[in-house]
Amino acid sequence: MNLEVFKFGGASVKDAASIKNVANIIQHHASRPLLVVVSALGKTTNALENMLQAKIKNEDWKPFLIDLQQHHATILQQLNLPTNLLESLFIELEKKIEVVGKLQYDFHYDQIVSFGEMLSTSIVATYLNQRNNNTVLLDARTLIATDNNYRDVNILWKETEKQVTENVLPQLQNNKIVLTQGFIGSTKDGFSTTLGREGSDYSASIFSYCLDAELMTIWKDVNGVMNADPKQFSDAEVIPQLSYYEAIEMTFYGAKVIHPKTIKPLQNKHIQLMVRSFIDSKTEGTKIFETNLHISYPPVKVWKENQVLVSIQTRDFSFIGEKHLQKIFEVLATFRISMNVMQNGAISFSCCVDSNPRLEAALDVLHQEFKILTNENLHLATIRHYDEKTIADLTKGKEILVEQKSRHTIQFVLK
Ligand code: ASP
Ligand code: MG
Repeated sequence: MNLEVFKFGGASVKDAASIKNVANIIQHHASRPLLVVVSALGKTTNALENMLQAKIKNEDWKPFLIDLQQHHATILQQLNLPTNLLESLFIELEKKIEVVGKLQYDFHYDQIVSFGEMLSTSIVATYLNQRNNNTVLLDARTLIATDNNYRDVNILWKETEKQVTENVLPQLQNNKIVLTQGFIGSTKDGFSTTLGREGSDYSASIFSYCLDAELMTIWKDVNGVMNADPKQFSDAEVIPQLSYYEAIEMTFYGAKVIHPKTIKPLQNKHIQLMVRSFIDSKTEGTKIFETNLHISYPPVKVWKENQVLVSIQTRDFSFIGEKHLQKIFEVLATFRISMNVMQNGAISFSCCVDSNPRLEAALDVLHQEFKILTNENLHLATIRHYDEKTIADLTKGKEILVEQKSRHTIQFVLK
């Protein structure tokens, strides 16, 4: 089957006009088998997170819910959809918030934040059917099987493959467009789970893998994968072709192109990925694929703010050895802190990490054994395929605290 998998992110469905545009794109491609993955509307996921925070802090969370209801109601009205379409979902959501306590934050997070995608897909599916009556909405929680590592689950691949082929294939063979939620799955006990923020790309790639898709397309509000964030760099340009390898490297260093986990399932089955604009669907976008050919890339810049440089030293001036490193890595992993740059010296180990509320707790533990120094409010500049001019541009007027260079990548921790 020459299946295509589409992924539409929050920005592509942020209001009624955007949803109409998405429906146009879908119908335009509906002559071939199509599975469509949709995220929550606009900034809904952030709003759900804020509501959960308010509830946990014992603040008034109701205004957040009312805002969400109103926003969704406006869209229903503008699309001429039944005004009670989302009523039962909102009732269920409200019940789930009421029982949230301080414990088991990650569990409650997933039970609540997963509603964003339930709401959006209900709207998009109903709208598509109002226009063409050729869409079936499948609940991703009956397709994507995960473990219970809430908020950052692992996919149970065997079960997922079975559920996806059993439920999706018959619909596609019936000439239906299959629509489902990005970002969410469920445990075998039936609790909702989420795949990590911006995880809808990953969902689409899981479906592509399970169904041996021919092509996956991520529709975005930019014209493709760019060599820098256009909000940070006015000279950012689209990269027409990327190898899987380069795409993984870029996401690893924090380029916000696609969710970092997206590439591997595609690479495993050599499924080509396109990143294209939903605003200007005539532009070609970026093709990401398996290739041994030499592609020449422009310098790729990733700029991260709010970095903390942590220096960890032995207290007795003994050398930092494997045992120490094991301990340090263990503690950082326990508190889910990932290192953006690391550097090892004789008696100290330094790493640069995103500023994070869990960091303090992790450092408290390490402090029992080590001397800890931190330096906050730093920037991290990463350049792939660096050249002298780009280095000069990014480091100009800044103090360089750490520099690390390999054949293709240079990183600077800057003050
Ligand atoms: N709605 C989720 C988020 O905003 C997932 C996604 O958009 O990919 O993080
Ligand atoms: Mg989103």
